[in-house]
Amino acid sequence: TTKRAYNFNAGPSALPLEVLEKAQQELVNFNNTGMALMEMSHRSKDYEAVHNDAVARLKALFSIPDNYEVLFLQGGASLQFTMIPMNFLTPETTASYVLTGSWSEKALKEAKLFGQTAQAASTKENNYRNIPSLEEIKFNDTDAYVHITSNNTIYGTQWKEFPTTGEVTLVADMSSDILSRPVDVSKFGIIYAGAQKNLGPSGVTVVIIRKDLLEKANTNIPTMLKYTTHADANSLYNTPPTFGIYMLGEVLKWVENKGGLEAIEKQNEEKAKVIYDAIDNSNGFYYGHATPESRSLMNITFRVTDEELEKKFLAEAKEAGFVGLNGHRSVGGCRASTYNAVPFEACQALANFMVEFQKNNQ
Ligand code: PMP
Repeated sequence: TTKRAYNFNAGPSALPLEVLEKAQQELVNFNNTGMALMEMSHRSKDYEAVHNDAVARLKALFSIPDNYEVLFLQGGASLQFTMIPMNFLTPETTASYVLTGSWSEKALKEAKLFGQTAQAASTKENNYRNIPSLEEIKFNDTDAYVHITSNNTIYGTQWKEFPTTGEVTLVADMSSDILSRPVDVSKFGIIYAGAQKNLGPSGVTVVIIRKDLLEKANTNIPTMLKYTTHADANSLYNTPPTFGIYMLGEVLKWVENKGGLEAIEKQNEEKAKVIYDAIDNSNGFYYGHATPESRSLMNITFRVTDEELEKKFLAEAKEAGFVGLNGHRSVGGCRASTYNAVPFEACQALANFMVEFQKNNQ
């Protein structure tokens, strides 16, 4: 087998080697059909089995209650920024957004195009170093929904506990931490995620939506942008991203084989810990962006004590085979994304490299 890179890309990001190898084996001749899955009709028996299996596995693995639909859409998480207010914001209501980073800002920006919005809380003044405490979150009982971003890919923060919003629908963008830990799905009306971090390749967007919301959705909107269109057709209203959905199904099998979400969460904690330890034990040579209690287990954001050294760190890390350690172009610094498919060994190797680099440069 080929040597695998130490891949810390933020998204698209590492996929499990086992999944890639299985896909490779099945690529040209899927299920003895003499065709690649990509070459098949999305109405064929073979594809339908793959599609329905992926839905069923996601429901089982993520413990999604029966009163929710699982949809496979396109347009990325970014289109959900638009579809949510388009479907659920009405002239009488307000949509409340918790701002914890650039992606929540982008979600709010779209909602403003459709109606009244409010900030339920914001940690922008603290340069998005933290998640607000649950007490800081303000919304009204009449709100259309409250929107949060469960993991902030760019700033490296993550919600540890979710707000209880009672009758008000809680909506979460879980693009960068879905399936990294168990979640009580019943707290949420809608959960959405682009697949390209923990679920598979880019091109598929997963939407988990409570069925009663579908009945309340606005109707005077374009067909393709209505959740009901896709829910009524089992996400087969039009041609879905068939290969991406197949890959998603294979990733779900891989997570099952790893022991499910509790086991995955434990592994993610261990992986993040070695890198956070390298930061915390460096006497300030490295310093994290996020406040310790809001630290993400998926995106570890940090800086090197001075800027020249930081450049050197990133250059030498690249040289040593670490991929994707540059922070997001909007904030700079360093970021190691340690999604489910990033092995512990890669995290340990990075931590060792950090310790070594510090020794040689301070
Ligand atoms: N939300 C979050 C939290 C993200 O990390 C990203 C992508 N990095 C997006 C939304 C946008 O996703 P997409 O590119 O699938 O539109």
